[in-house]
Amino acid sequence: MKIISVKSVSTEEFIDITGQVMAAVKELNKSEGLCCIYTPHTTAAVTINENADPSVKRDILAGLRSLNLENVHYLHAEGNSPAHIKSSLVGASEMVIIDKGKLQLGTWQGIYFCEFDGPRSRKVYVSVS
Ligand code: ZN
Repeated sequence: MKIISVKSVSTEEFIDITGQVMAAVKELNKSEGLCCIYTPHTTAAVTINENADPSVKRDILAGLRSLNLENVHYLHAEGNSPAHIKSSLVGASEMVIIDKGKLQLGTWQGIYFCEFDGPRSRKVYVSVS
């Protein structure tokens, strides 16, 4: 397993980690298999989406914000329940096929670390099996 360190600078943010995941896969030196990209945090997520137009990541965050998750009476005392909900909606992991040592991403796909309760120092685990 390889660990990628991510430092978010905003409360909510999508950080493109495609290059770091590719480097981790190279270091793991496995030419075929399934690559799991997983973040061990409860207010963050990992997703795959378009990396060509930067508006897309902004729009995804705007769409999630439009759910108006702040307008609910929550019991969790830390006050960050909207971030916990977004983490569960987007999900803590993604899986990508590795063939001939390369991640089989589509032309317009990138792998994003999604911060919902930043800024924080975060980790993403990458393993190939
Ligand atoms: Zn919390």
